[in-house]
Amino acid sequence: MNINKRSLSRSVFTAALALGLSAGVYSGARASEKSHPHWTYEGEHGPEHWGHMSGEYAACAGGKSQSPVDIKGYEDKDLADIVFNYKPSRINIVNNGHTIQVNYDKGSSIKVNGMEYQLVQFHFHDPSEHMVGGKSYAMELHLVHKNDKGELAVVGVLLESGKEDKAYGAVFANMPKKADEKKELKETVDAAALLPKTKTYYSYTGSLTTPPCTEGVTWLVLKTPVQLSEAQINAFKDIVGVNNRPVQPVNERKITADTVSK
Ligand SMILES: [Zn+2]
Repeated sequence: MNINKRSLSRSVFTAALALGLSAGVYSGARASEKSHPHWTYEGEHGPEHWGHMSGEYAACAGGKSQSPVDIKGYEDKDLADIVFNYKPSRINIVNNGHTIQVNYDKGSSIKVNGMEYQLVQFHFHDPSEHMVGGKSYAMELHLVHKNDKGELAVVGVLLESGKEDKAYGAVFANMPKKADEKKELKETVDAAALLPKTKTYYSYTGSLTTPPCTEGVTWLVLKTPVQLSEAQINAFKDIVGVNNRPVQPVNERKITADTVSK
């Protein structure tokens, strides 16, 4: 593998982010931090090769509970509502070479199935990673949460082309253009305002959608899409481009669809 200095430093940086994200779920990563291979969304380091690039990425190829998935054949159930306790956060935004990520101030959380998870960061994919009944969306927002045990719960919001959404404005206006670039702003973003009004959801157990594809992630994909304007979607496209992992086999897993929001 031809690793030049730049791609090496980026992969170390990415590794640090991945660690922050999956600390507690993925153990033993710190010792081999410098050897995380560089991965991409196309070509020789693209999704179909992730699982073979490094032992540490093995779950990307061998895992039986991978994400994203095409959400279909689900079971309807009146699941307990997700309780969102989100507060506004300063905008600490980074272009990590794979996506635009906003690291969220402490103190925001969700409660689901009696478990509390703190909101750690949110980021975007273009086009959507999850599909619903074979349909793909323009983009997808992932709000990543972690509980005291280090277990992850990710809320997915499907984003479709339509009206401009001003709640996304401050983030989209400040996306760092280059990989490894960061911005810290005094301006705030309220994650609660990024969600659709109706919060019924699909639920299943899956994985991180990026290497190391760690499993045991609780996925909560909201059923109702949020609209962004074509200009907002294009602003992300111009900076990041395509960054979705293709859908993975559902295998033995059950997908549940929440039917009523009380
Ligand atoms: Zn994601």
